[in-house]
Amino acid sequence: MASISMKNIVKQYGDGFPAVNDVSIDIADGEFMILVGPSGCGKSTLLRMIVGLEDITSGDMMIGDRRVNDLAPRDRNLAMVFQNYALYPHLTVYENIAFPLRLAGASDDEIDRKVKGASETLELDEHLQRKPGNLSGGQRQRVAMGRAIVRDADAFLFDEPLSNLDAKLRGQMRTEIARLQKRLGITTVYVTHDQTEAMTLGDRVAVLKRGILQQLATPRELYENP
Ligand code: ADP
Ligand code: ADP
Repeated sequence: MASISMKNIVKQYGDGFPAVNDVSIDIADGEFMILVGPSGCGKSTLLRMIVGLEDITSGDMMIGDRRVNDLAPRDRNLAMVFQNYALYPHLTVYENIAFPLRLAGASDDEIDRKVKGASETLELDEHLQRKPGNLSGGQRQRVAMGRAIVRDADAFLFDEPLSNLDAKLRGQMRTEIARLQKRLGITTVYVTHDQTEAMTLGDRVAVLKRGILQQLATPRELYENP
């Protein structure tokens, strides 16, 4: 786990108004940070710069005490939890979670220990032999998180993970993500345009508008001082 620190981050596409304009945010180790704002405000661009999928025009991106501006995504040790879960349909839950460990050449014993540990934490232990196609949306989301946990990722990054779900499931998943994040204590950055998610999920909320950080506060502070 690690803190994430953004110092004066700028992203300029072409020569228009910067998509991200001098944004500084310090995310503490274990903190759940929401990035919120209307479509086009720069929140996905900011998330993609944290993961390394987008070059940073200027500023410093720190993970723990490492400056990561020039590191490839695979060297940042972060886990993007994708909206479509990116699970392998032909593999069991067990093998989906084990996948990054197999790639890394871990021993069967280590794989077994880590997969069982993660699946207990995520309450997936009864579903290890099932295939993703037979799971609920919430269970699939947990498998995706399990894959990140066994890699010992420093942080979870979510980009609008609930936007394709119906209102009822969205409510359930919101509760579940908040609960699991607290249980795991893993630094989390969560992008949304949804005010309800922004005000109920995280420890703090960063409000972006046209690439500029407008507010950085707890949900309570934002509620009392909108
Ligand atoms: P959000 O996630 O808040 O909807 P984005 O980060 O996707 O916003 O986009 C921020 C701004 O940057 C928008 O004006 C968008 O049009 C622009 N933008 C995003 N990606 C690119 C790109 N690859 N090339 C040029 N402009 C882009
Ligand atoms: P693949 O090459 O199929 O993505 P890996 O899981 O080994 O398989 O990915 C290689 C590297 O890419 C990993 O070491 C990791 O740093 C990065 N990576 C993989 N999955 C994610 C993810 N969900 N979010 C962010 N980075 C990832």
